[in-house]
Amino acid sequence: MAGLTAGIYAARHGLSTAIVEQMMAGAQIINLERIENFPGFPQGIAGYELGPATQEQAMNAGVEMLMDTVASVSSDGDHLRVAGEGGGSYLGKAVIMAAGSTLRTLGIPGEEEYLGRGVSHCASCDGPLYMGQTVAVVGGGDSAADEALTLTEYTERVILFHRGDSLDAQQALQDRLAGQPKVEVRYNAEVVEVVGEDTVTGVRVRSADGENVEPVGGLFVYVGLEPNSSAVSDLVTLDNAGHIPVGLSMETPQPGLFAAGDIRQQSAAQLVASAGDGATAAIAAHRYIRSRDW
Ligand SMILES: Cc1cc2nc3c(=O)[nH]c(=O)nc-3n(C[C@H](O)[C@H](O)[C@H](O)COP(=O)(O)OP(=O)(O)OC[C@H]3O[C@@H](n4cnc5c(N)ncnc54)[C@H](O)[C@@H]3O)c2cc1C
Repeated sequence: MAGLTAGIYAARHGLSTAIVEQMMAGAQIINLERIENFPGFPQGIAGYELGPATQEQAMNAGVEMLMDTVASVSSDGDHLRVAGEGGGSYLGKAVIMAAGSTLRTLGIPGEEEYLGRGVSHCASCDGPLYMGQTVAVVGGGDSAADEALTLTEYTERVILFHRGDSLDAQQALQDRLAGQPKVEVRYNAEVVEVVGEDTVTGVRVRSADGENVEPVGGLFVYVGLEPNSSAVSDLVTLDNAGHIPVGLSMETPQPGLFAAGDIRQQSAAQLVASAGDGATAAIAAHRYIRSRDW
């Protein structure tokens, strides 16, 4: 969302603008059934509608979409060079990093082994596979709450395991969870192992009562996000969590490099905030380019 919005603004400011995208624009929201907090959509909007619509708007504004995975960004004198994994190389007077973040894993035994065979990060993609079953969700934030609610459309029962004693999710989502009889929230409960045969059959859970194996057909993991910032780690010092430090105009300490959305330090990690960051970064990039002799 940050990159597409930056593209719309940069192109409309008359800058020659390209977006380098590895998969599909708005990848993080593409599976979301209903986004309820993006302004302008009183009934909510699906992520798979909002993402492509924003990309179309960017292309209508004159943005060129380039398919590549960005491997690194380096300084090339006055310009910044974006290198793609496939050997592509793109030179820009300014670069806005808006590569978002990737869902974290738990790092527990069985998680990797059963990925795609019961372990998932996408409720709307894989939920239909668990029709009538009991599934587990791990996490306590907006994503975990949102995805637990999505899973109730398919499954008989959803157990939400959370390490802490209260959820971090926004109150509106917590209220919906509380009103959904299929969801049971277990606090102070840590999933420590995924167990199964051909596919997942349960999760080992540690709590104040000790450890027990809870029988579930699937495990959906939403325990935070890892910023996709490695491409600029040689240009700027990332914070401890891997976020890119920025000033109020989304500028980084590296001249010409801006960062927007989930990838930047102290991001609200929300779509509307990412869109705002993208607009701010593009306006600042336009000012930066205009202010210099090239
Ligand atoms: C399950 C879930 C539910 C959510 N629900 C909501 C919600 O209801 N409301 C809300 O406001 N927010 C929600 N969010 C948060 C929201 O999705 C993010 O805050 C937002 O998408 C961040 O936008 P972004 O532009 O920073 O990153 P993204 O939207 O993730 O966009 C980053 C783009 O960069 C691309 N990319 C990454 N690395 C590279 C690379 N090396 N080379 C090329 N391209 C690359 C990706 O493919 C992607 O298209 C949710 C998130 C999750 C995971």
